[in-house]
Amino acid sequence: MAGVKKGVTMMEKPAICGGMPVRETPINYGHQYIDDADIQAVVDVMRQDLTCGPKIKELEEKLCRITGAKYAVVCSNGTAALHIAALAAGVGEGDEVITTPITFAASANCALYCGARPVFADINEETYNIDPAQVKALTTEKTKAVVAVDYTGQSVELDELLDHCHKHGLVLIEDGAHVIGTRYKGKCNGSIADMTTFSFHPVKTVTCGEGGAVLTNSEEYYQKLLLYRTHGITKDREWMEHEPDGPWYYEQIALGMNYRLTDIQAALLISQLDKLPMFSARRKEIVKTYNEAFSKLPQITIQKEIPESDTTRHLYILRLNLDKLRIGRKEFFEALKAENVFCNVHYIPTYYFPYYEKLGYKRGICPKAEKLYEEIISLPLYYAMSDQDVQDVICAVTKIVEYYKA
Ligand SMILES: *Cc1c(COP(=O)(O)O)cnc(C)c1O
Repeated sequence: MAGVKKGVTMMEKPAICGGMPVRETPINYGHQYIDDADIQAVVDVMRQDLTCGPKIKELEEKLCRITGAKYAVVCSNGTAALHIAALAAGVGEGDEVITTPITFAASANCALYCGARPVFADINEETYNIDPAQVKALTTEKTKAVVAVDYTGQSVELDELLDHCHKHGLVLIEDGAHVIGTRYKGKCNGSIADMTTFSFHPVKTVTCGEGGAVLTNSEEYYQKLLLYRTHGITKDREWMEHEPDGPWYYEQIALGMNYRLTDIQAALLISQLDKLPMFSARRKEIVKTYNEAFSKLPQITIQKEIPESDTTRHLYILRLNLDKLRIGRKEFFEALKAENVFCNVHYIPTYYFPYYEKLGYKRGICPKAEKLYEEIISLPLYYAMSDQDVQDVICAVTKIVEYYKA
C-alpha cells in the first residue's frame, strides 16, 4: 500500500502538512448497510403491490412490536412525519412551537408549514439536547407543541418534558430521527412521547432510501395522521358528512398531502429492521471505543451520557476544546479530510439560515447552541465500519491533536 503507513506514531506530521495520510481510501461519516436479504425483499415485492399494499401494514405492525407503541403511520420521509405530526397536534396559524436549533432544519420547518412560529430553546451544554428549563421559560399562551430532538440518538429528558407539556396542554412531538434503537428508562423511544417521528434516510440507523414514520399511543392522533398522510381523504362512514351514493364513495374532510410510502420501500425497511439489534450493538461498540480513546485527550470533550438513556448512537460528535489547540474547527476538519477521514458538522443552528434571518431571527438567542456549533465535528459512525476503520479515525484525530496541541 504505497503512500500509506499504518499505526502512525504520535508526533508524525499530519497529511495536511505533507505527512502521509492515515488511510489510503476515504471513509465517510455515514453509510447504509444493505445485505442480500434486503435485496431479495425488494425483488420479491416487485411482483406484488408497489404501493398501498400489505407491506405497509406489516411494516407498521413491526414498528409497533419493536418499540411498544400502539400505533405507527409510515410515510414518505422524516420531514413528512414531522409535518403530519404537527398537523395532528393541531398546530396552526398564530401558534408557537418550541424546538432546538441544533438539529436538521425540518424540526422547525414543520411549524412553519402549519403557519406557526418556531421558538428556539437553548441546549444543555453537556448533553447537547434541548434544556427542559429553557422550554419552560419560553412557554406562553401561544405555545401549542414542543418538538424535542434526540440529538445523536441520546434520548431527551422525556419525563420532565412530558410533565411540563401535559401541565400546559402542549403536545410533545419527539423528533426521533436519530433515536431508533434507544431506550429511555427501559422503554423504547417511540412508545413514550405523544408522538415520535422517525426518519429512514440512508445515513440513519435503518433505511429504505427515503422514509419516515410517526408513532403514537393515541387513537385520536393515529386517525388524524392517517388522514393527513393521504389527502385528508376518508372512506370511514363515521367521519363522512354526506350519505355515500355508492360503494366507490369517499370524502375529503381535511387538507392532507400525499405522503405515502411505497410497498417497495416498506419491504426494504421490514428487512432492515431485522438487523436493528445488530446495528445497535455495533454502533454502541464503536462509540465505546471512541470514548475510551478520546477521553484520554484533554483537547476533546466527550458528549455527556445520561443514565436514563440506553443509547444507540446515530452520530458521534467530537467536541474540540479550542483553547487547548493551535488550530480552529475548520482547520481540524480539513486536517482530518487530508487523512482521508471525511467528516461532517451537525448542525448549523437553524436560525442562522437566511430564510430564518428574513423571518426576523437574530444570532445570540441560544448561546450554548452557538458555542457548540463552533466546536463540533461528526466522526464516521456506521455499522459497516471495520475495526481498522475505527482505529484509523482514532489515529487521525490523535495525530492532529498531538501535532496542534497548545
Ligand atoms: C434526518 C432528519 C430529519 C428529516 O428526515 P428526512 O427523512 O430526511 O426527511 C428530521 N430531523 C432530524 C433531526 C434529522 O436528523
